[in-house]
Amino acid sequence: MTQRHVAIVGAGLSGLELARQLTNAGVSTTLFDKSRGVSGRVATRRAEVAGHTLRFDHGTPGLTECQAEKISSLTMPTQLALEPWLPPSAMTGNEPHFSLASGMNGIGKWLAQGQSIALNAPVTALRESCGGKTWQIESESTLRPQNFDLVITTTPPLQAANILKATQTPMIEQLNTMRPEGCWSLMLVTEHPWDIAPLLTPQDSLIERVISEHTKGRLSNTWGVYTIQAHRAWSQRHMDEDPTLVCKKILSELDRLGFGRMNIVYHRMHRWLYAGVAEPLGEAILLDTQRKLMCAGDWCLGNDVTSALKSADAAWSAAIELLS
Ligand SMILES: Cc1cc2nc3c(=O)[nH]c(=O)nc-3n(C[C@H](O)[C@H](O)[C@H](O)COP(=O)(O)OP(=O)(O)OC[C@H]3O[C@@H](n4cnc5c(N)ncnc54)[C@H](O)[C@@H]3O)c2cc1C
Repeated sequence: MTQRHVAIVGAGLSGLELARQLTNAGVSTTLFDKSRGVSGRVATRRAEVAGHTLRFDHGTPGLTECQAEKISSLTMPTQLALEPWLPPSAMTGNEPHFSLASGMNGIGKWLAQGQSIALNAPVTALRESCGGKTWQIESESTLRPQNFDLVITTTPPLQAANILKATQTPMIEQLNTMRPEGCWSLMLVTEHPWDIAPLLTPQDSLIERVISEHTKGRLSNTWGVYTIQAHRAWSQRHMDEDPTLVCKKILSELDRLGFGRMNIVYHRMHRWLYAGVAEPLGEAILLDTQRKLMCAGDWCLGNDVTSALKSADAAWSAAIELLS
């Protein structure tokens, strides 16, 4: 069989896992991501505070046991150092209690080993090549010369619709029905840690989770290092507000919840314009066999890492069938 070339747009967990499986099957793959690093929403932000490097997992804070087992079982040249982060008494099947001391984005970096990845490469369009038999990737206003037999997007759905707009694929209609949900995350450092559980989910609050980053085996001086995530519905209603105002609202909510003295050393807001979808698609992938285009990603099945990996599995099977 002649060598087939597949372009994967998006180097989050679904894109990376899909690339890993295709590469193992002997298919040549190239990943494109708009960011300067891999891992997508399994993200880690570093901050230099008074000479200390602090890490905040401001996207996915950790993995459930099931997710950690699945990821650790993937065949890679090196092992992944996922460690339980919550004390055994606090562990339930649904809590994300496995983490990486070096930052959760280490999962994406681990999966990216040996892959061909173009970073800082926002894909803006696809163009037909070789008389409509293959595709070329347009990144901003530059058309890349490589021809691809199949293009698979793993970006959020509305970004995928935008990338595919010149292809006339009927998938665009379905992509445009998906409603995104945002999330405000506050990265906060307090002079002293609060006396709270490593992962706190307050009841009847605009705050969904308080994640104690300093409990993840990281250097944190003697400070309390936190990521505080607001509920998606609340975040969505406040998406266009000034970050300073949103920060004030979250801090006053912490005060109302009785979080004690703040003595803030550092704070920074992050707005996830796209954290997930209000309603998943309900199918593992979208496929246009005729045009050799496919869309995958967590949003097909849910809003979590498990859904991202399942969608990648389905995309892999469909790609192998399509290319054979
Ligand atoms: C605040 C927050 C908390 C979360 N908590 C949890 C949790 O506790 N448990 C859990 O299981 N999941 C959680 N998730 C969800 C989890 O992070 C996602 O389900 C998973 O990371 C999705 O992976 P993906 O590869 O499908 O998408 P993404 O990670 O979004 O990857 C898509 C990639 O596409 C890239 N991209 C987008 N547009 C373009 C373009 N035009 N050109 C090139 N590249 C592009 C992006 O840069 C990104 O890297 C959380 C997410 C957020 C935001």
